[in-house]
Amino acid sequence: MNILSAVPPADLIARGREMAFEARRADPAADSISTPRAAIIDAWTRRLRVSVDGAWTKRLVPNVEAWCNRRHGELEFHMTQVMSGHGCFGTYLQRIRKEATSSCHHCVCLVDDAAHTLLECPAWDAERAAMNATIKAQLRADNFSESSWAARSAGKPWLSFVGAS
Ligand SMILES: [Zn+2]
Repeated sequence: MNILSAVPPADLIARGREMAFEARRADPAADSISTPRAAIIDAWTRRLRVSVDGAWTKRLVPNVEAWCNRRHGELEFHMTQVMSGHGCFGTYLQRIRKEATSSCHHCVCLVDDAAHTLLECPAWDAERAAMNATIKAQLRADNFSESSWAARSAGKPWLSFVGAS
């Protein structure tokens, strides 16, 4: 999903370049560099809002502009798995036919997905408590991206939290 790499869809980038070109032609002295970017992010936000795909990622990234402007560094492998929902989660493994059911391997939950692992599964209570202590807040979907960066910069990567699931 494009949102994870913070790279807007190609058609919106192309439209932004057209807008910049038209603005420069209309007024060669104008500073037209920031306006297309803002317009691109705005159009992307509206597109994501009506999209039915990637609902989980949208919960994790409620603010597209803040996400694109973050200065935290690159996404690493496990974080991308959690944020995309494409990882060692029952629903995903069943979808790609690696497992017969979507059940959690650690508890009685019948639908294991990224949200279950991250926010609910009792097998990860200790890791979740450690994460909450590090970020001094309750880990939620909508604070996940900022929380995980905060944990990492505090020298406490949350990798153990999902890396072994
Ligand atoms: Zn579970």
